[in-house]
Amino acid sequence: MSDLGLNAPQHGGQLGEGYGRLRAAGPDFSHGIALYLEKVSVWFDAFQALNDLSLYINEGELRCIIGPNGAGKTTLMDVITGKTRPTQGTAFFGQNYNLAKMSTEEIAEAGIGRKFQKPTVFENFTVMENLLLAAPKNKQVKKSFFSRLEPDAQLALEQSLEQIRLKGLINKPAGLLSHGQKQWLEIGMLLMQRPKLILLDEPVAGMTDAETEHTAELCLELKKNHTLIVVEHDMSFINSISEKVTVLAQGAILAEGTLAEVQTNEDVIEKYLGR
Ligand code: ADP
Ligand code: MG
Repeated sequence: MSDLGLNAPQHGGQLGEGYGRLRAAGPDFSHGIALYLEKVSVWFDAFQALNDLSLYINEGELRCIIGPNGAGKTTLMDVITGKTRPTQGTAFFGQNYNLAKMSTEEIAEAGIGRKFQKPTVFENFTVMENLLLAAPKNKQVKKSFFSRLEPDAQLALEQSLEQIRLKGLINKPAGLLSHGQKQWLEIGMLLMQRPKLILLDEPVAGMTDAETEHTAELCLELKKNHTLIVVEHDMSFINSISEKVTVLAQGAILAEGTLAEVQTNEDVIEKYLGR
């Protein structure tokens, strides 16, 4: 394509007319950073859900975010995906996408995929049908015939099925899957969009120990070619996947470091762990 000529970062809301060009280019990670949040505050009327929060996620990083209920973890994901606008501060995906100026659809297209807390698969459709329905709109060609998918969509499908471990269950209605399998299917649906950055909000809530272990393996596999942000309360799960952990409390960062470091942090013990 001739219009991929983005080079210098141009912080300053250059969407609008240039958006088509930006979308074609994809996120610019040339500085090694996938996500920049700078001094982000979110107010809901008189309540401040995020308080001057700055967060930088490197490309290829798997960042865990923990913290008490109401800390602002889901609000943070809402800001990244465009569901909630920052009242103040800036949010960039790579050097070039100003998230505060993009719609949720534009953000998804730019390469940010999110799994919500509750699985939202189509229960009456099979595993395969759910994955095909999740393919980007223009890729949904001949969706009833696996072999006749566009090569790109078919590759995404095969890779998704492999990663979510549902290859043997493609014809099973999603409603008959276990809770854990539904969660993996939803991750698979996310992968159909070929995201660069994946956000998982409490992925192992309600899972059995075995399902939790599988999910940890899945996260580590996804990390090989994605940037991930994982919000969870389950400390043994966090322990099995984590590199850097960010602890959020009252809309602000309380501590950052390895899990062992933050678990021995006095503030973290007082405000989160030691109840
Ligand atoms: P967490 O995911 O860490 O448990 P949330 O981000 O869901 O926390 O919520 C942070 C705080 O913001 C909570 O006190 C919640 O009630 C409040 N909140 C979240 N979304 C809204 C909203 N749309 N309107 C008003 N208050 C909200
Ligand atoms: Mg939440």
